Amino acid sequence: MSQIFYVPTKVFSGSGCVVQHAAAFGTLGRRALVVTGRRSAVASGALGDVKEALAAQGITCEVFDGIPPNPGFTEVREAAALARETGADFIVAIGGGSPLDAAKAVAVLATNDLSDDEVLDPLLARAPLPRPPLPVAAIPTTAGTGSEVTPYSILTNDKLQTKSSLSHESLFPKLAFLDARYTGSLPRQVTVNTALDALSHLVEGTLAKRGTVLSGSLAAQGLSQLAPGLRFLTEHETPTAEVRERLLLASCVAGLVIAHTGTTAVHGLGYSLTYFKNIDHGRANALTLGVYLEAMEKGNRENVESILRARGLADVRAFRTLVDALLGPREHLTADEVTRFAALAIRTRNIGNTPTPPDVEEIQRWYAESLP
Ligand code: NAP
Ligand code: FE
Repeated sequence: MSQIFYVPTKVFSGSGCVVQHAAAFGTLGRRALVVTGRRSAVASGALGDVKEALAAQGITCEVFDGIPPNPGFTEVREAAALARETGADFIVAIGGGSPLDAAKAVAVLATNDLSDDEVLDPLLARAPLPRPPLPVAAIPTTAGTGSEVTPYSILTNDKLQTKSSLSHESLFPKLAFLDARYTGSLPRQVTVNTALDALSHLVEGTLAKRGTVLSGSLAAQGLSQLAPGLRFLTEHETPTAEVRERLLLASCVAGLVIAHTGTTAVHGLGYSLTYFKNIDHGRANALTLGVYLEAMEKGNRENVESILRARGLADVRAFRTLVDALLGPREHLTADEVTRFAALAIRTRNIGNTPTPPDVEEIQRWYAESLP
């Protein structure tokens, strides 16, 4: 069967890359809207660098800093209105996955009049958007989602009480800047949770039905890159500059993987944990990752072995021990929550992309065992 590999994002990496490659912003337009969270852009130092780079190119800029974690349509529509008012011709997204994902939806709604339902309609992904979205330059300040190289925007969907994915080929950021100095201000818990998100992307990407030869080799490379970083985090409180660089690169590689493979059951189960229990996205995935890998082992031994090999681990039990060390004490779900969350998870598209898809009883077992 034929396969496609497509990532149209120009990725700059290395310390100081935003200012050094300021000219790249000039290719996107003359007026920018920076879309970011409440503190991360300033705390990380990224906003200072972006302002310097834009000023050097004579580009004017407005800042929208109202994107919360797990953003929804309210904030996205506010930012899109500002983009229209100020006549922005491109967006600079600074932050973790939340501002990066929000910025992609802002880019769509700045140029298109669409309802929330129309934005999230899977049919939207299959045809050109009515009008092209504004181009996006993405600057991650967490090392986990890889959103800087994916065409996905994950938005909180209150109507369906879950997180829903907007996916469109035109939403790949045009530019991405990876500077690990920006992750230096992260609290430990966010560093750990986001690293676990990258791990989930690489594990799920290796197993996903939609996996290809190229995504598989990237995933193996990403796992080898990530493994020493994760081990370091189990042994030390604060990552060194070198470890942060490794985590940021691995997260981007994981993004390249899921841009092609999508995610599987683990992400499908994670959405309710975030929506109803307010558990951070990366942690929500990592909680069920061990049980999932064990369940996948029977039908997909070769792929599971390649994951363990790339991580330098003997068996699934060693994998679970390592993830446990990073997670610490686990949250608890009531029997009623297990039933309700499993009923929602089975309906996600992620289940169909799982190599050995679980039925609803198996999902209940995964939840109950993972959040005892
Ligand atoms: P996040 O929600 O973007 O950020 C978590 C917290 O970390 C926020 O409070 C944020 O502060 C803070 N923070 C970020 N960078 C910081 C820095 N350098 N220094 C200090 N604080 C910083 O977390 P995330 O895990 O990166 O993103 C999660 C979101 O991404 C979820 O919505 C998830 O669904 C989505 N996601 C998307 C993809 C994709 O392919 N598009 C893949 C996986 C996950 P502020 O509030 O100030 O920003
Ligand atoms: Fe994720």
